[in-house]
Amino acid sequence: MESSISSLIETCKNIYDRQLVSGKAGNVSIRVGEYIAITPTLKSLNDLKSEDIVLVDFDGNPLSKNKPSSEVGMHIEIYKKRPDVNAIVHTHSPYATGFSFSSKKIKRLEGFGKVNQKYLSSIEYEKPGSKQLAVNASKGIGNEDVLILKEHGVICVGKNIKEAESLANFVEETAKTQFISLMLNSVKDI
Ligand SMILES: [Zn+2]
Repeated sequence: MESSISSLIETCKNIYDRQLVSGKAGNVSIRVGEYIAITPTLKSLNDLKSEDIVLVDFDGNPLSKNKPSSEVGMHIEIYKKRPDVNAIVHTHSPYATGFSFSSKKIKRLEGFGKVNQKYLSSIEYEKPGSKQLAVNASKGIGNEDVLILKEHGVICVGKNIKEAESLANFVEETAKTQFISLMLNSVKDI
């Protein structure tokens, strides 16, 4: 358990350093047996200590004094629907989130694993932290490993935390490449 908490904290630091999250945004969790270990609310992912991580049961009741992320319900619903998922990374990474505020979809490129569909799945906007967002996100992700939350951000899931973390990096890189190509193709050649 201790080593999985350190991996969780390491992922938080990595995604902060790579600017996939900033300020106090974003949240990360792992499944630990009957419980979920999740990042706390209103705290930067830059500098978390093991005592900051909140253990909650599948009803969202925290086992420690500190409060879990406001998106804890979304994490719980996804774990309930997907027994194969052991880690969830939620970011507001700028390029992918930029796409989520537009009508353009992010292409699903090689590197995500099996390409079953042309674009990443997405769901319509629901208030962050709401029950509706939790329900829609767990439905929307289906059997995919990435879900775009319109006008909000990105969810990546994995068998383990490293998988979810690298997916979050990859989604952002993909969105960035697609953005650059859209910009270049929109300019007339000189
Ligand atoms: Zn969010």
